[in-house]
Amino acid sequence: YTVTPFQNEPFTDFSRPENKQAMEAALLKVKAELGRDYPLRIGSEKVMTEQKIVSVNPGNVDQVIGHVSKATQDLAENAMNAALNTFETWKKTTAVDRACYLFRAAKLMRERKHEFSALMVYEAGKNWAEADADTAEAIDFMEYYGREMIRLSETHTHRPLTKLPGEENRLTYIPLGVGIVIPPWNFPLAICVGITAAAVVSGNTVLLKPASVTPVIAHKFVELMEEVGLPDGVINFIPGSGAEVGDYLTSHPKTRFISFTGSKEIGLRINRLAAQTNEGQIWMKRVIAEMGGKDGIVVDETADLEEAAKAIVASAFGFQGQKCSAGSRVIAVASVYDRIVQLVKEHTEKLTVGLPELNYPLGPVSDQQAYDKILAYIEIGKTEGRLLVGGGKAQGNGYYIEPTVFTDVDGRARIMQEEIFGPVLAIAKAKDYKEAIALYNDTEFGLTGSYFSQDEARIAYALEEMHCGNMYVNRKCTGALVGVHPFGGFNMSGTDSKAGGHDYLLLYTQAKLTSRKL
Ligand code: GLU
Repeated sequence: YTVTPFQNEPFTDFSRPENKQAMEAALLKVKAELGRDYPLRIGSEKVMTEQKIVSVNPGNVDQVIGHVSKATQDLAENAMNAALNTFETWKKTTAVDRACYLFRAAKLMRERKHEFSALMVYEAGKNWAEADADTAEAIDFMEYYGREMIRLSETHTHRPLTKLPGEENRLTYIPLGVGIVIPPWNFPLAICVGITAAAVVSGNTVLLKPASVTPVIAHKFVELMEEVGLPDGVINFIPGSGAEVGDYLTSHPKTRFISFTGSKEIGLRINRLAAQTNEGQIWMKRVIAEMGGKDGIVVDETADLEEAAKAIVASAFGFQGQKCSAGSRVIAVASVYDRIVQLVKEHTEKLTVGLPELNYPLGPVSDQQAYDKILAYIEIGKTEGRLLVGGGKAQGNGYYIEPTVFTDVDGRARIMQEEIFGPVLAIAKAKDYKEAIALYNDTEFGLTGSYFSQDEARIAYALEEMHCGNMYVNRKCTGALVGVHPFGGFNMSGTDSKAGGHDYLLLYTQAKLTSRKL
């Protein structure tokens, strides 16, 4: 089976009038559909529950995005049974057939991409470009993992085993079983689609528990998979509370693996629960976890400071700093420190905050809980550093916070160590580049980092010494592209599972060696 080589979905240029108009039309269309009720999907059934998760626009909290049915433990158990039954047939479909569902879904999503993006503008508070990049990444994941599954199914021809006369030997990658898929709200389409697609294209069936602040966009994906004819029971959709449904399924003896992206605290909890074996369980569960980051940008005195400042501001404040890849720390060497602080101030002050629908550069943060937490960190920052820009709430009928920068922060300060997941940047000074890199490494996380320099020897040193899964030079530390920058980090950032890379599907499969005497 041959497919065209993988290519990243291009981003939309909204400065072109036809693209701007298309996005405005999509926003209107989606707006007219807000506020509906959404069911669970358990096998072939659509189950509407009495109790609902209410999804609201974080940028306009009076606007309801949808009422989404909420699973209980009993319903989760039904979904588990549906997934277990379906696994028996789904695992027997060919890799090419499974991949083709993804290719068809990618094609439809591409045709309606602004509609998917528009829904994220309302539900997640993304500006147009952030939403467009999220949709593009979702398309990429489907195109990429479809191709990867085909490649993996042909490894006996692509990566032959050592020949032994008189035997025919083969290695095949077979699926694991039923997986629990728990994506985050910050890439509510891309990561939801990515981890679900990886699991199902590998031949597993899943229980998808979307993030409770963004369940409507997840439902839209589930609907799309139904439209392309994915058999019932391959993706079971069960929104619900983490404490009730999440823990129950993580502990379930029939759960074979859990793929999670979210906070360190919840990732560690899942890992703990998954490590306990329960009555009737005959395997060790596999945990694939992408967790937090306290990512940073290091600037030495040879760097192009204007470029560095632009990258710092983009990394710190893109989607309000709500990316695990966000550059929430800067470490600059003393001789350029004042200049970089000044440039970061100028660029940050240009960022206006407002309604995502109107495409302000910065929008709201996700919800009340995040809002309170970020504002509390800003107060902590005021005791730990010097406030340079921002420092509090911003105007609007939602969870708006000013982009905030603190300078002269100590490496061990809480705002240099703890993941805030909001528009808050801490800047620290180092005497030289080696000390700056040591400060960068002084963290329990290890997801992304950037080094700004024009000096080859220092760049070589930084490439080797900066301990993170995604290390960039002279560019921002966000915006990893599928296939180009396999994404995932070290230490408390997770299992370094490298989404969008060649090794990723191995996490959702197990290798079986068959040896036959001739
Ligand atoms: N892959 C995204 C990036 O490179 C971040 C994903 C996340 O925040 O979970 O910016």
